[in-house]
Amino acid sequence: MREFDIIQRYFTRESADQAVALGIGDDGAVLTPRHARQIVSVVDTMVEGVHFPQSMPADDIGFRAVAVNLSDIAAMGAEPRWMLLSLTLAQAEEAWLSLFSEGLFEAARRHSVTLVGGDTTRGSELVVGIHLLGEVEAGRAIARSGAASGDDIWLSGTTGDAAAGLRLDDVEGPDADVAYLRGRFRRPQPRLQLARELAGFVTAAIDVSDGLYGDLVKLLQASGAGATLELDAIPCSPALRRAFPDSALDLALAGGDDYELCFTAAPGQRGRIRQIASGAGTPVARIGSVTQGAGVICRQDGRQVPYDDAGYTHFGNP
Ligand code: ADP
Ligand code: MG
Repeated sequence: MREFDIIQRYFTRESADQAVALGIGDDGAVLTPRHARQIVSVVDTMVEGVHFPQSMPADDIGFRAVAVNLSDIAAMGAEPRWMLLSLTLAQAEEAWLSLFSEGLFEAARRHSVTLVGGDTTRGSELVVGIHLLGEVEAGRAIARSGAASGDDIWLSGTTGDAAAGLRLDDVEGPDADVAYLRGRFRRPQPRLQLARELAGFVTAAIDVSDGLYGDLVKLLQASGAGATLELDAIPCSPALRRAFPDSALDLALAGGDDYELCFTAAPGQRGRIRQIASGAGTPVARIGSVTQGAGVICRQDGRQVPYDDAGYTHFGNP
């Protein structure tokens, strides 16, 4: 199958998006942002065998490639609008392409994102890159750098599930817990609605992709602050507790691939945050507070406990 036919058959779809002046088919896409909005631009690339197992179904690969980028857009408090797909294929198999594009467009449609271009090449392994563009009202993007001493630290949903799901990827005939955990890896649910409603009054945010502890440290470093983390307050799903009774908390702290939102806000905002979270149908938990100076102190059962993990890094934990 030729490159042109692949693009035409699997990636060109009708769109009612008036803001796309020129989409797929020209040398570049021409997009019209709304008045007084800023563009938020993110990109994330997934390599088969590195970021997802070879066994992962093609529709989940497509869905996940979009969802992880949506999560970055969410962490900025922005609204996703358009995306470009950079696809490197080892072979052009029609059944695979059909399933892949189904998953990709499913995630895009859920959040009204239009595919406006991309690049298709042949290579030795499957590589999927998505470049996503979003909009935010000028001045309202949430940075990592605004956390202040005394702020609460909040977490959406639960962490650890996706890392558990990845470890259980090759279980045959999965039970309900395994299916749930695996689904949390394969189909992350970006917290877009929650984040957009928090934009404007939360002080900092990061999406949890490399592990809660490590990503919180990144937020704190950007803010020039430290934190106390209450390990008892870190929520773990019942499925995670049942599947990994001895390491649920470790996975929740350092597992990665969660695509939950970690954010900070003044204690005066607690009521408002709980109200927004309940309206968005996204549970949130208060897991600690921001302190002056550097470093994270972990507490459990009212005592300080040692914990030192840099979170997942692509080049191994130093
Ligand atoms: P060029 O050589 O000018 O970069 P291409 O021939 O690579 O253009 O692409 C033709 C058109 O198809 C462009 O509009 C490009 O954005 C789009 N395109 C290429 N690959 C993809 C893809 N995988 N998904 C969506 N659009 C694509
Ligand atoms: Mg060109």
